[in-house]
Amino acid sequence: MENRSEDYKGIWTLGEMREGEIHAVSYELLAWGKDLADKLGVELGSIIIGHNVKDKAKELIYRGADKVYVIYNPALKDFRADPYSKILTSLIDEYKPEIFIASATTIGRTLMPICAVKLQTGLTADCTGLDIDINERLLIQTRPAIGGNIMATIKTPTSRPQMSTVRPKSKGPLPIDESRKGEIIVKEFGGEYLASRVKRVDFLREETVGAPIQDADIIVSCGKGLKDGKNLRIINELAELLGGSVGASRKAVDLGWISYSHQVGLSGKSVSPRLYIACGISGAVQHLAGMSSAETVIAINSDPEADIFRAADFGVVGDIFEVIPLFIQKLKERTKE
Ligand SMILES: Cc1cc2nc3c(=O)[nH]c(=O)nc-3n(C[C@H](O)[C@H](O)[C@H](O)COP(=O)(O)OP(=O)(O)OC[C@H]3O[C@@H](n4cnc5c(N)ncnc54)[C@H](O)[C@@H]3O)c2cc1C
Repeated sequence: MENRSEDYKGIWTLGEMREGEIHAVSYELLAWGKDLADKLGVELGSIIIGHNVKDKAKELIYRGADKVYVIYNPALKDFRADPYSKILTSLIDEYKPEIFIASATTIGRTLMPICAVKLQTGLTADCTGLDIDINERLLIQTRPAIGGNIMATIKTPTSRPQMSTVRPKSKGPLPIDESRKGEIIVKEFGGEYLASRVKRVDFLREETVGAPIQDADIIVSCGKGLKDGKNLRIINELAELLGGSVGASRKAVDLGWISYSHQVGLSGKSVSPRLYIACGISGAVQHLAGMSSAETVIAINSDPEADIFRAADFGVVGDIFEVIPLFIQKLKERTKE
């Protein structure tokens, strides 16, 4: 079924809540949304779903939204895909935005495909760039494809809305402007909309060094060159000293040295830190696909021919068990100075 594109207008972003606060990715998305809305000359809307979220709506306006659609209810306190997707699709049916974007977080990646299927429209996941083809009034969605070897440009010419998820940290947020004015629209949903087949039992935080890798500014990542899981302590120590997080190749995960939530790559997470330090990682295309948007890459590998050096800004040919302790020593000396 084709949705009539002329009936759809405006850009929407999905706001995300974490532990009662708006998550930083929501502001990054607004920066993308504002850019697209200005190019199309349309309004920028943002949706926020949760409990006690009404007071937070103005923060989205200060960061670029013209309208914020607020849906709050104690039953919506924690993310669950079925009520959230029913509410979102209902709102999209009612207001008909031409573009709807979410962050490529666990929430965005779970919710958007469900909504796209319900709305019978296309979805481009994990974009690193968004733009507008002004002549055709179409969203240009750019994302790595074929294991990160090419950048694909994707359009959704017929069905609406045009939907994408965007990698966290692919754009910085706009500065806070408390003089911005906008409209806050509270929408009520009850009954069937709040029903869920999923019952939340508990939330267990994983014990780990630093922020989740998708949010981290600095990542120290390990590969099979680490030789044994017990050697993870040098990676943890370096990450801790740098105020960063620990990442891993799939081999390190498959060997049981570290949990899957740390895996960077095609079948793991996409990360965009300011600094990525790859330790004993060969640089397979599937790994590079997850870290190619890192700002600066340092590779430490004993094999001078390792592919990781082709993706690195700085390379150290050497044994990680010699190089990392030297790094750690230097950092400790610096903090003493
Ligand atoms: C469909 C599919 C999806 C995949 N998804 C992912 C993914 O999401 N993420 C991912 O990482 N991989 C993924 N892979 C696997 C990928 O192809 C590689 O096998 C994997 O990335 C290799 O991990 P590695 O670099 O740790 O190990 P290796 O390729 O074995 O490399 C180990 C490196 O350590 C170096 N080394 C050894 N000892 C030392 C030392 N003492 N000091 C310094 N360097 C040393 C070696 O020179 C070597 O370069 C995927 C594969 C497939 C087919």
